[in-house]
Amino acid sequence: MTDRVIHILDSRVASHAPERPRTVVPATGRVEDTRGRPLRDLRISVTDRCNFRCTYCMPKEIFDQDYHFLRHSDLLTFEEIARLTRSFIAHGVEKVRLTGGEPLLRKDLHKLIAMLAPLKTRDGRELDLALTTNASILARKAKQLADAGLKRVTVSLDGLDDAVFRRMNDVDFPVQDVLDGIDAAAAAGLGPIKINMVVKRGVNDQEIVPMARHFKGSGHIVRFIEFMDVGSSNGWRMDDVVPSAEVVHRISEEMPLRPIGPNYPGEVAERWTYEDGSGEIGVISSVTQAFCSACTRARLSTEGRLYLCLFAQNGHDLRAPLRGDATHPALDDAELETVIGDIWRGRADRYSEIRTEATARAPKIEMSYIGG
Ligand code: SAM
Repeated sequence: MTDRVIHILDSRVASHAPERPRTVVPATGRVEDTRGRPLRDLRISVTDRCNFRCTYCMPKEIFDQDYHFLRHSDLLTFEEIARLTRSFIAHGVEKVRLTGGEPLLRKDLHKLIAMLAPLKTRDGRELDLALTTNASILARKAKQLADAGLKRVTVSLDGLDDAVFRRMNDVDFPVQDVLDGIDAAAAAGLGPIKINMVVKRGVNDQEIVPMARHFKGSGHIVRFIEFMDVGSSNGWRMDDVVPSAEVVHRISEEMPLRPIGPNYPGEVAERWTYEDGSGEIGVISSVTQAFCSACTRARLSTEGRLYLCLFAQNGHDLRAPLRGDATHPALDDAELETVIGDIWRGRADRYSEIRTEATARAPKIEMSYIGG
C-alpha cells in the first residue's frame, strides 16, 4: 500500500467518541454553532464505494483493488440511520440528502428511503428528501425510489461529449446511460432535477456551453461547481479551478443570462436565469466565493461519524454511543440528542474562508467517504 493510501485511511480513523452527557438538554428545534449558524441540512453517506473512478474524486491509482473499503458490519444500519436522522430533525434539520460513494450501490436503498420519507420536520412539514447520484443505474431504480418516497434527485454529469465523460469517470461509462437515467427520474416525478457538473480547467471546461445548451428549456437545472480541494488524493491546484464568473460569462455570450435571487437564505448555488425565460442555471463558487457563513450542513459518514465541514480533518463518532458496548451502554434518544446538540454548538469550521494552497495540502477526509 502506498504512503498516500495509508495517509487517507489514517485520516478516516481520526474521530472522537463523545462522552455520555451528564445532563440531558432537550432539543428545541433550533441549535446554533459558535458563528450563529443553525443546523438545517443533513447529508448522509450510505456507502464509501463507487462504480466510477472519477479522476478528481476517486483516482484509480489510489482506490484500486488494495484499497480498504469499509466492511459491511462497519456501516450504519438503516435503523441506525433513521434513528440518528430523527435526532437531527429534533434540532431543526429540514433537508436530508443521501449520498456516498454511489448511494444506489447500497443494497435495498429504497427501504431506507421508505423509513425516512414519513419523518416530519420539527414544525410538521414534509422532510425534503433528496439523493445525489452518478445515475449509472438510475434508469432501473428511479420508479422504485420515487414510490418509496424520494422527492428529488441531483445527478452528477461532467460533460456531454462521450469521450470526455468516459475519460473523467475512468471506467469507460457511456454518457447515454446517464442521460437515460435523468429521463427516467423526470418520468418518475423526481424533479426538478439538478445536474451537477464539476468543472476542471483543461479537462472538461469545453463542455460548459454544450451542457448549458443541451439542458436549456428542459426544466432541469445545471449547476456548475468549482473544482474543490476536498480530500488528499485529487492533486488539487488553484490553476485547475474555473471561477464561476468565467462560467457565467462563457454561457452568457451565447445565451444571455441575468442573476436572480436565492430560493431561500443560505442557498449555496447562485442562480442565473436565461433572459429568454427558458430556464435557469446555478453556479457553486466554493473556492472563489466561500459561503461558510451561511453553511447549515452536517455530514454523517457511512460508519456514523459526524463531520461539521466538507473539509474536516476529524469526525465525531456517533456509532459508538448509538451501539454501546460491554463497558459503555448505548445512549437513549434524549442523550443522543444532547450529544448532537453539544457538538453543533461547538462548531467553528470555516475552511473555505481560510483556504490557501498550504491548507489545500493538509490531510482531509475524502469526498467519496464523507459524501458530496
Ligand atoms: N456518487 C454520487 C455522485 O456521483 O453524485 C454521490 C457522491 S459524489 C462524491 C458527489 C458529488 O461530489 C459529485 O457531483 C462529484 O462530482 C462531486 N465532487 C467530487 N469531488 C469533487 C471536487 N474535488 N470538487 C468538486 N466537486 C467534487
